[in-house]
Amino acid sequence: MVRVFHMRHFLSELYYQAKSWKVASLLPGNPTAEDLTQAEVERYSRQMVLPELGPKGQQRLKDSSAIVIGAGGLGIPASVYLAAAGVGRIGVVDEDVVEKSNLHRQTIYTEKDVGRPKALLAAERLRSLNPHIVVEAHEVRLSSANAMDILREYETVIDCTDNFPARYLINDACVLLGKPDVYASIFRFDGQASTFHSKRGPCYRCLFPEPPPPDSVQDCAVAGVLGVLPGIMGSIQAVESMKLMLGVGDPLFGRLLVFNATDMTFNELRFKKNPDCPVCGQRPTVRELVDYEEFCGVRRAAPSVEEVTPKDLKKKIDAGDGIVLLDVREPFEYELCRIESSKLIPLGELRRRVNELDRSAETVVYCHTGVRSARAVELLTSEGFRRVRNLKGGIRAWAEEVDQKIPIY
Ligand SMILES: [Zn+2]
Repeated sequence: MVRVFHMRHFLSELYYQAKSWKVASLLPGNPTAEDLTQAEVERYSRQMVLPELGPKGQQRLKDSSAIVIGAGGLGIPASVYLAAAGVGRIGVVDEDVVEKSNLHRQTIYTEKDVGRPKALLAAERLRSLNPHIVVEAHEVRLSSANAMDILREYETVIDCTDNFPARYLINDACVLLGKPDVYASIFRFDGQASTFHSKRGPCYRCLFPEPPPPDSVQDCAVAGVLGVLPGIMGSIQAVESMKLMLGVGDPLFGRLLVFNATDMTFNELRFKKNPDCPVCGQRPTVRELVDYEEFCGVRRAAPSVEEVTPKDLKKKIDAGDGIVLLDVREPFEYELCRIESSKLIPLGELRRRVNELDRSAETVVYCHTGVRSARAVELLTSEGFRRVRNLKGGIRAWAEEVDQKIPIY
């Protein structure tokens, strides 16, 4: 109790100081905060009392800009805290719309927002949170074609994406533009964060020279994520960004912060600049942005396999064509939802269990979104199946276009 009392006393002292600053900042000719209005000083008083910040620091935040790539689990807390703190100009990049399965972790969206574009909604919410700042929505997918133009306009780049091609793209663009890349990622109960800045330390490629094999990568939809985890890691990105803007503290240059929520531990892994790094090393070979999906060996769709649309599949099932439906997802996904009378063989077991299937039967394979099942079709074709096709868009598209009773996850 004594400590609590002391803390409260300490806070009231600081509040008194803040009030004094408020008066000082409004005096004509005050060199440290001439652009801060009375409303702004009142709004930011609790952080302006920090000696490391003060009116000068607040002015610095107001003069700063940041681009948040991905208005999802990480991007929401990162952008909300930066907006609330008074970062003068914030850009939000996202091409997606809000889905119900986003709501457990992307907490500024509501039920009513499902189906609406994230970038526009996030920008609207940030503006209403803080009308003193400028928020710009970029309703696009960041790509090699647009990344340089978009990122060039902002001082700090915050990588809140969820895939490897985007991380390499953002890293390379930041190195080429000489900008910091504030990074975080999450997986189930784990999170990691670092700040890459080729002028002051290593870059993402120095830490991860090669992308992981595409088969080993699972996204949140498959691997799962505890909703609060991106909240923690996105908040760390906001702190890191503010430290860079203010020039205070020790940013995560050359340090990978690893958080584990089950043990509630933070660990740190130190890494160095790689002199042979292809983008920030002594003899760089990457001098412009490349095709990052190709670099990471991933494809958004598999053009080489034959596909059937959900509507055409429904027609065939209704016509009694005797199609074999093969589900290659994991058992827990099958429990969640499935197309009636489909057989479950998870992709990882398919090669071993291929003889459970009839090679001459007309077969349609599906998974969650069509990526795993495309690999399954390739595998079955190599095993001699001639009448096998992929369900375009997976059970997700089936749920959207054919059977609305199936939950979308
Ligand atoms: Zn590097």
